[in-house]
Amino acid sequence: MKKIELLAPAGDLERLKLAIRYGADAVYIGGKKFSLRSRASNFGIEQIKEAVQFANEYEAHIHVTINMLPHEEDFEGLEEYLKQLEEAGVTAVIVASFAIMKFAKRVAPKLEVHVSTQHSSTNSSVVSFWKSMGMDRVVLARECSLKDIVETTKHSKVPIEAFIHGGMCISYSGRCTLSNNMTTRDANRGGCAQSCRWKYRLYEDGNPLHKEDQLFSMSSKDLCAIEYIPALIDAQVASLKIEGRMKSQYYIATVIGTYRKCIDAYYETKKISPELMATYKQELTKAENRRTAIGFYDGMPKSSAHLYGVNGSGVSQEFIAYVLDYNKETKVATLEVRNNFTANIQCEAFGPHKQNQKFMMNTLYTQDNEVLEVAKTPMQVIYTTLDVEVSKHDMIRKVMINKENVY
Ligand code: SF4
Repeated sequence: MKKIELLAPAGDLERLKLAIRYGADAVYIGGKKFSLRSRASNFGIEQIKEAVQFANEYEAHIHVTINMLPHEEDFEGLEEYLKQLEEAGVTAVIVASFAIMKFAKRVAPKLEVHVSTQHSSTNSSVVSFWKSMGMDRVVLARECSLKDIVETTKHSKVPIEAFIHGGMCISYSGRCTLSNNMTTRDANRGGCAQSCRWKYRLYEDGNPLHKEDQLFSMSSKDLCAIEYIPALIDAQVASLKIEGRMKSQYYIATVIGTYRKCIDAYYETKKISPELMATYKQELTKAENRRTAIGFYDGMPKSSAHLYGVNGSGVSQEFIAYVLDYNKETKVATLEVRNNFTANIQCEAFGPHKQNQKFMMNTLYTQDNEVLEVAKTPMQVIYTTLDVEVSKHDMIRKVMINKENVY
């Protein structure tokens, strides 16, 4: 049986490399044109070539989103772009427009064409239709239940990709014009202003419907479906997708690393104990900056389970340093500062394919060998001795106990 693919997001080359190092089998990115989130993308064609080269070293794949809903003027340069992606060795394009799907098949036949979640595919009949149109994979709607995903995969002759983690739309993805109406930024051409997540005062006949300090937001909690990984593997879903091309390096490393461990553990033992699953869930809370829920996996969620600000987990630990180097003999670690920290705090080191290790931070030194009371300059290179063995590309978190989340 082919092993399920773990598909990570990346907003730039650094995050792409990190995602692959932490266990992603494939990474999806957006170019500067034709993609939702194109405003945030740093991937020109030269960066895409470098991404493919790096991915090849790890036998990983690069998918490129071309998932805007194009208007007449949006086709300019598309043919050349598709050919450049094909030539660069990109594995697949993720497409929302049927016109672009057919066009891509014709002008760049080596590229797989994956049907974007923007199409809201929720059943095997629509997936069969995409198969008959020659598409290579279908990304299901985030509004599918586990039952929908299992049944659709069972009856589909085309590989299925399902979302497992990250942001949700409060409307069906790809069918929202809230941002268009409120900000004139077209959500379906890469401009969503996330108007659903703003805070609103609600009135009925001029009377407020809530207290002054309890504003209403339509924002949905993020999805976290780690407990469904065994069922998704058993169902022979082809790919598990994590949302978040705008997310930080720390988020990518924590989330990808955790799902990697969970997937590998299930393939190894065919079982994940409740205790082990609890550790994965706890690990994911260390990365969250928004509350999470299981989305539609258990069927239509009630508003209390889905809407923001009711239940859920939050950040419990803070990313403070990136490991640039570690000398096993002297135990000296070279660190790059990411957030304020001092000596004598409890920390945790984590890295790709390894167990987390807790330790107390020792005295910090500058490059001039002066003692540093507080590491507070982002990206500053500092030194310390560590009693636990770390490796280049590991990350260090400050352990924060019972911290209330700020949303
Ligand atoms: S406004 Fe909200 S629901 Fe609408 S597209 Fe943007 S994120 Fe999704």
